[in-house]
Amino acid sequence: MGRVLFQRGWVVTEDARAPELRDVLVENGRIAGVDPHIEVDAATPVIDCNEKFLVPGLFDMHVHLREPGREDKETLETGTEAAVNGGITGILAMPNTEPAIDTGGMVRFVLNLARERSRIPVYTAGCVSRGRAGRELAEIGDMVEKGAVMITDDGDPVSDARLLRRAMEYSRNFKLLIGSHAEVRELSEGGVVNEGAVSYKLGLPGIPSASEEIAIDRDLRIAQWTRARIHIHHVSASGSIEIIRRFKQQGLPVSCEVTPHHLIFCDKDIVDYNTNLKMNPPLRRDEDRARLLEGLKEGVIDCIATDHAPHTTYEKNEDYCSAPFGIIGLETALLSLYTHLIKTERLSWGRLASAFSSNPRKLLGLDPVSIRRGNRADFLVFDPQKKTRVDRAFLKSKSCNTPFLGKDLDGSVELVTVSGQIVLDRTKDGRNRVTCSSK
Ligand SMILES: [Zn+2]
Repeated sequence: MGRVLFQRGWVVTEDARAPELRDVLVENGRIAGVDPHIEVDAATPVIDCNEKFLVPGLFDMHVHLREPGREDKETLETGTEAAVNGGITGILAMPNTEPAIDTGGMVRFVLNLARERSRIPVYTAGCVSRGRAGRELAEIGDMVEKGAVMITDDGDPVSDARLLRRAMEYSRNFKLLIGSHAEVRELSEGGVVNEGAVSYKLGLPGIPSASEEIAIDRDLRIAQWTRARIHIHHVSASGSIEIIRRFKQQGLPVSCEVTPHHLIFCDKDIVDYNTNLKMNPPLRRDEDRARLLEGLKEGVIDCIATDHAPHTTYEKNEDYCSAPFGIIGLETALLSLYTHLIKTERLSWGRLASAFSSNPRKLLGLDPVSIRRGNRADFLVFDPQKKTRVDRAFLKSKSCNTPFLGKDLDGSVELVTVSGQIVLDRTKDGRNRVTCSSK
């Protein structure tokens, strides 16, 4: 697309008080103008955005693509198409594939595959330890040289403190972000839900919040000592927020993320042993959920990331203790956050844009895609009047392990542009959605 005018949309800006009604002109892949009114000649196509939101393209810094190794659950192609479907225009892939991404060669393999198969930019993390075994360091320098933008053993903690110290000292030399999946295995082993009233009632083994809090405290102390840049994955417990806040106040370059499911659900929602509410870390108490939202609004929590974790229906149909941890999230993140938090005015569009678009990009050293003159045209058109039914026909992911399956969520991702290329357009077909009759 050479030149297109997006007319009269509510433009969402990071941390701005409220979206503003603007015309947005896109020219040669960039935003050429954002103004209350832009005049164009008759030859320029116009997309009517009346009553819709224009949102900066989202960036998900926690995605499990499963390729190589478990292409029955997801591939790089289906995973990135799922991202597009959810309004996400850039992702960071986690390295816990089979084999794991623990060498420069594996990093190159993923990035080459992405160039062939993906319509959005794909970045990858490399492992902290060889084979994610937690015993010796992976080839960190080689992975960085080939393009890795983070190291993490996500899926498992780095339990050996001496290995973690060495990884942090190494990562500091490259100013590389090191990700922490914070869990003390001796405390969490065997658990499947949050330890507390709900685990006792359901008769399921619990994972205590202390497992996460102790691990975060230890990892942040080592980061402070080695002066490493540390990022805490999927924070779930209220105590964790207080620990992170304290270290931030002391000036440690620590960042962290929260998932949409930890902001929306709590352990009380697991009434019928629904394995699509089984994830690690587990859903905590309602008080924790409320504190996570506060932490996100205050800025103690920097980012929203989905922890998109595809699993086959066969595996998720096992009993609650045997089923694997994790749910998919790329396609429902924005819709569910809109339905449960934005529409109910508990979270602002501006805060969503900073936590789910500009902050993760800044942390990884990428250019933010705010809807401003001169920036790359990466944004989505969101229609709050429509609803989206989350069914097999809607999902582009190979897996459908989501608690929203079969449900309607408010809003619809109507159009997505990446560098000015329209990669998704529902403004014409109207498939999969019903008009909201209650309005
Ligand atoms: Zn993890």
